[in-house]
Amino acid sequence: MSFIESLTLMLALMYIASLSYWSGKKWGAVVTLLLSIGAVAISLYWPLALALLIALPLCLIANKFAPEEFKTEIKINTLREGCQQLLALSLFLVAIQYCINAIQLKQGSTPWLMRPDVVDAFLPIAGGIELKAIVTLNLWDQTHPAAALMLAAVLLTGLLCKRAFCGWACPLGLAGEYLYALRKRFIKAELAPPAWLDWPLRMLKYLLLLALFYIVIGMPSESIPYYLQGNYHKIADLKMALFFVTPGLITLACFALILALAAWRRQGFCRYLCPYGAILGLLSFASPLKIRRNTQHCLIEAKGMKCDKCTRACPANIIVHTKTTVRSDECQACMRCVAACPKSAALGLSLKSGHRVSHKGLLVLLLLALFALPLTAYLAGFWHSQTPDNIRMELIQVIDRVGH
Ligand code: SF4
Ligand code: SF4
Repeated sequence: MSFIESLTLMLALMYIASLSYWSGKKWGAVVTLLLSIGAVAISLYWPLALALLIALPLCLIANKFAPEEFKTEIKINTLREGCQQLLALSLFLVAIQYCINAIQLKQGSTPWLMRPDVVDAFLPIAGGIELKAIVTLNLWDQTHPAAALMLAAVLLTGLLCKRAFCGWACPLGLAGEYLYALRKRFIKAELAPPAWLDWPLRMLKYLLLLALFYIVIGMPSESIPYYLQGNYHKIADLKMALFFVTPGLITLACFALILALAAWRRQGFCRYLCPYGAILGLLSFASPLKIRRNTQHCLIEAKGMKCDKCTRACPANIIVHTKTTVRSDECQACMRCVAACPKSAALGLSLKSGHRVSHKGLLVLLLLALFALPLTAYLAGFWHSQTPDNIRMELIQVIDRVGH
């Protein structure tokens, strides 16, 4: 685990501890702190220890000097945007470290910066094949274990808290928001497609998901060990990086289409093309958490007033103000509707029993799902790729000739 990965992990854990403490759940803070210290003690890994030594004082300083409203009243949109931006920054630093590592491999010198394993999160097909290998063959891939783990962690977020990964964590979603905001500065009009076109476009991401499933499910179990031991799999991440760094004409046209889509319609890429959005949308039906409207408090039924602030705030164009439960696969649990509602008791993210989960609670759930699994796996020795640098160095020299 690289230092950037360790620091992101420890900052997330310390923030969970702070949120628990500020919410009056001191036991939660103590448990998180003990788990973090325990992880350092078990691993005896200096980047993890240093990360804890940085994250813990930062958290204590925040506890002492941060304004009270930051601790207790932090707004939904501020918290969500802060989370998205910090995770995107972490990923940006990870990408720089990965590029330096890859350039050194290409130059034939032993990298002085390690490869951050979390980049394997960008290998969803490899992750799917690895998960299939675990389930059908009890075979645990040691080449890119982080691919299976990150895929499992993201799927877990879908089961627990709907598409909160899309709304609160995904850097592509954040980039799409910026692109859309930029377009709106120059072309003010909403350019959403009509409903008759919107639905088939939304189905595109499910078609892409089907294609990915076809590749993973279609690979015979007996072929999987050969694939996982093959040279292609050893440098699948480098192949992917090369694909992005040296795009052909068709790839460039696809990139342009994706950018245009994100600028044209808010969350256009997430809504129409992203296969992660598709699978999380499907899993979100199983999530016990839903946006629920309480008609006893909503201004419409309780006061007979006209109100549709929740609907107008929704970036996914979901009609919230006429529903009691939002079940849409497009709901990203972003809670913008909740933030926009003038009656705090009228709208919230809750269980069927009515038990509400605050935006801070949602973030804790999401961060735990995203980070607890990789940390546990790291401690169990199933995170870091076991492919030696010299093998990757040899293969990167002939990368164009390595096929599967
Ligand atoms: S319904 Fe609410 S939580 Fe869901 S996407 Fe719309 S604004 Fe976000
Ligand atoms: S914004 Fe709140 S009060 Fe207004 S319709 Fe939506 S749930 Fe009801």
